[in-house]
Amino acid sequence: MRVYEKRLDIERDVADLHKQNKSIGFVPTMGALHHGHLALVQKAIDQNQVVIVSIFVNPTQFNNSEDLVNYPRTLDSDVVLLSNLSKAIIVFAPKPEEIYGSKNNSLKYDFNGLEHEMEGRFRPGHFDGVGTVLKHLFTIVSPTKAYFGEKDFQQLQIVKKLVEIEKMSVKIIGCPIYREDSGLALSSRNKRLNKKQLQESPLIYKTLKQVKNDFGTKSVIDLIDWVSEQFKSNETLELEYFEIAKVSNLKSIKRKRKNTKYRAFIAVFAGEVRLIDNIALN
Ligand code: AMP
Repeated sequence: MRVYEKRLDIERDVADLHKQNKSIGFVPTMGALHHGHLALVQKAIDQNQVVIVSIFVNPTQFNNSEDLVNYPRTLDSDVVLLSNLSKAIIVFAPKPEEIYGSKNNSLKYDFNGLEHEMEGRFRPGHFDGVGTVLKHLFTIVSPTKAYFGEKDFQQLQIVKKLVEIEKMSVKIIGCPIYREDSGLALSSRNKRLNKKQLQESPLIYKTLKQVKNDFGTKSVIDLIDWVSEQFKSNETLELEYFEIAKVSNLKSIKRKRKNTKYRAFIAVFAGEVRLIDNIALN
């Protein structure tokens, strides 16, 4: 396994790969890898001649400094997991200085309003941080295709917009959400849940599935009220937001319209740990 820390070193390899006309699949991650990440990597292996995985806890996308400090960092075991998939994977695990120089500054982006909805509302500056790090990483890795999970559906839409704005040639590929048997969406943050929180967290997906089930027959307002009730009666989980939004612009709705695609989005706190999930409704 090749594990690079230095930008110049990986850029040299990438230039060689391009000279040989190799297709490069890229999977950006923040590490603490789980099967959701590995499914993205496997898809990249299947569709490209070379795969690069970045492992970088990006400081500019954290609006909460405690979350940044407590974010799990497990580089050694991440490298083992990746080498079990393929020893040919190239890992890029830079220090923040390699990406940002001396100051961790974000660029300011206008993603046509997508950045103001849901995660953007509750995590100010988050998507500027995401856009900035991906602009840097795409420049360094210069991938043919890059892989993102629908677990972060809003991020996936924003990355598609970023590539348009920055006129980058990378093709963005969305991948389905991977879950525990309990239904809980896999997330690096799940490592921080205690036993009780792990026991209760499947309520998030259970609720989303029920909403999907009832979407055809109940009003949006009734569904929103019902979800709110589910979490009011739970002492371990605290609902931050639940929204039903149009897939095209991620604007939340109060009423359904015909011939429009919708998705339900949820963010929940289990103690200090923030969990997000979403589901296609129609
Ligand atoms: P992260 O390390 O959390 O920044 O995630 C890296 C990539 O993996 C992002 O594109 C995520 O959307 C994706 N990802 C994280 N968890 C899952 C999951 N449970 N299922 C599918 N993709 C995921």
